[in-house]
Amino acid sequence: MNVHDSEKVVGTLLQEGYRQVETVEEAQLVLYNTCSIRDKAEQKVFNRLADYKKYKKQGKTFGVLGCVAQQEGEKIFERAPYVSLVAGSASYTKLPEMLVQIEAGNSRVTGLDDRETDACFETEFTARTHPHRGYITIIEGCDKFCAYCVVPYTRGKERSRTSQSVLAEARQMVDLGYTEIQLLGQNVNSYKDSAADPGKKKSFAELLAAVGEIPGIKRVRFTTSHPRDFGRDIVEAIDAVPALCDHVHLPVQSGSTRVLDAMQRLYTREQYMERIAWMKAAKREISITTDAIVGFPGETESDFAETLDLLEEVGFDAVFAFKYSPRPNTPSLKLEDAICDEEKARRLDVLMAKQRELQTRSYKRYIGTRCEVMVEARNEARAQWIGRTTHNKTLNFTAPDSAPPKPGTYAPVLVTASFPNSLIGEMVV
Ligand code: SAM
Ligand code: SF4
Repeated sequence: MNVHDSEKVVGTLLQEGYRQVETVEEAQLVLYNTCSIRDKAEQKVFNRLADYKKYKKQGKTFGVLGCVAQQEGEKIFERAPYVSLVAGSASYTKLPEMLVQIEAGNSRVTGLDDRETDACFETEFTARTHPHRGYITIIEGCDKFCAYCVVPYTRGKERSRTSQSVLAEARQMVDLGYTEIQLLGQNVNSYKDSAADPGKKKSFAELLAAVGEIPGIKRVRFTTSHPRDFGRDIVEAIDAVPALCDHVHLPVQSGSTRVLDAMQRLYTREQYMERIAWMKAAKREISITTDAIVGFPGETESDFAETLDLLEEVGFDAVFAFKYSPRPNTPSLKLEDAICDEEKARRLDVLMAKQRELQTRSYKRYIGTRCEVMVEARNEARAQWIGRTTHNKTLNFTAPDSAPPKPGTYAPVLVTASFPNSLIGEMVV
């Protein structure tokens, strides 16, 4: 999402007559997009800003965008006085106005609308950086307020685009040559079509299917889905529309209902497992990935054991696991963060080791099968091509020098070996 936000910001600037350059040295205006999901990410921002200080003498203008900007607001001017613009993502619709103020020499411009805005950041001029995969934001913000999470405070309230504008953007991308589209949102499946005419409103599953049915689109991905709003209709859409990828990212966070309740996640372990059962009953094999947090306040050894047990029960194809990080403004900040960092680190290691072992075993199931990959790039050092399967797995493969595959095209590959996080194969010619 952050990458795509930057693409839209760059597009807006290009439309205003700016030109993009490759390095900070060449730039006159430097905008730094930031994330504050965990404290580590936030610390990096201030370290990087300190590095930028030396450029101020050269007359460059600096701006901080994104969640750290929204969270810290005008305090950023105190910590880094050489910054002239501080704007959160909910204010990006006003970027052109803010740029005018900067050009007029205003040295402290802010865009900190926070939860007030109803507008989505739509721009006709998105500077797409991925050569073959196009991102489309369908919903912004979040109203879920999980106890640990800063997003509802930094990205504003939940607001969806109209399905018409999403479909128009998807068609425009096909015209530009894109064959893979990724629909984005903090919770894509909480999408509520904002079309004025009730007869034209689409549910998330209907929108997904409609994007997948646009002629020219080969692959549609979507991330992230929230378990509470994950309906069976999404699995039915995957079954019915071949262009929808066989992959769902469904963050569980914890395997313990007691912890899920404390996290205010709005579902139980049993409800999460019910959604997994729907996916496992699908006509084609759906690869399932997740996020997990270890060391949430009050997580006991037995709660943690339940998370490990859930990993085994589901058999995820990837897990993104994090140590709980207390965040400003969030309800869990009031809970005692009694689990020390060493213990959080230990649980994280145990979880990752377990997942690695599970993946080492489960990725072997692909050996001997034929997968279609989208060719992404060439790895010269290894004399291999890098591809991605519908299951979102990296498949590194060899191809005859006489018939090199072209990045952005699709190729059939026979899987010959597996690692815990990737596959190896040979292109079928
Ligand atoms: N909306 C998605 C959902 O509800 O699953 C998640 C979006 S969040 C930007 C991405 C991931 O960051 C979460 O799934 C969670 O695992 C992790 N995360 C969020 N806040 C965190 C915190 N305070 N400490 C550690 N991890 C956190
Ligand atoms: Fe954060 Fe929860 Fe919203 Fe996801 S659903 S963005 S974890 S508050």
